[in-house]
Amino acid sequence: MTRIPAEQLIGLHRRRVYNRNAPSDVVFCDVDGVLADFSSAFSELVASKFPELSLTHTSEVRDWYWKEHGWTAQHFAWGWRQVGKAENWWEQVKPLAPPEVFARIAALHTTVPIIFATARTISGGDSTQMQTIRWLEAQGIERPLVITRTSRAANGHSDKSDLAEIFQPRLVIDDAPDTVRKFARKGVTVLVPPWPYTEGLDKEFPNNVYRMPVLDALRFVG
Ligand SMILES: [Mg+2]
Repeated sequence: MTRIPAEQLIGLHRRRVYNRNAPSDVVFCDVDGVLADFSSAFSELVASKFPELSLTHTSEVRDWYWKEHGWTAQHFAWGWRQVGKAENWWEQVKPLAPPEVFARIAALHTTVPIIFATARTISGGDSTQMQTIRWLEAQGIERPLVITRTSRAANGHSDKSDLAEIFQPRLVIDDAPDTVRKFARKGVTVLVPPWPYTEGLDKEFPNNVYRMPVLDALRFVG
């Protein structure tokens, strides 16, 4: 377990993460790459057609676009097309975070307004929101508040940073480098899991981006 360097902790307290005068109490928690191991599920799916691709657990992803892992736009496009056809594909993604994380969120979210904000692509079956609600409930988080920013882009990416203006979150937990940058530029404090592809984000935004395991990040949620 990575320890949070003292200067980061001091930085968080200086910025008064616990400040009751924050614009709102809302905390955003991302799902894929934070709670769910999207990378393993998606790479397993695509490797069924392109066996030369190796399976990639989120904690091993070196670059966000998976180029270093041999992926091309065609691989992604094929994968997203399958996701689009598969029945409730998002429900079979395995948990990424350890059980303690889900237990902690289950306890916290009864008193802290945690919004599970996710930019999942539309799949077959039920809405991505419904699938995500059921997935979180299967992890022990009852009646989660889920907002989905769905995307039909071939690369599967979409933007949810516009939600910052609506909800003014006091804290965001997210892993996607572009999303983290967009939130950080709006002055939002972002806590980022320490995966290889998030390296350097804290240096880029020394005042409001901090890398730490999700369990540590939850200490700042409540
Ligand atoms: Mg994510």
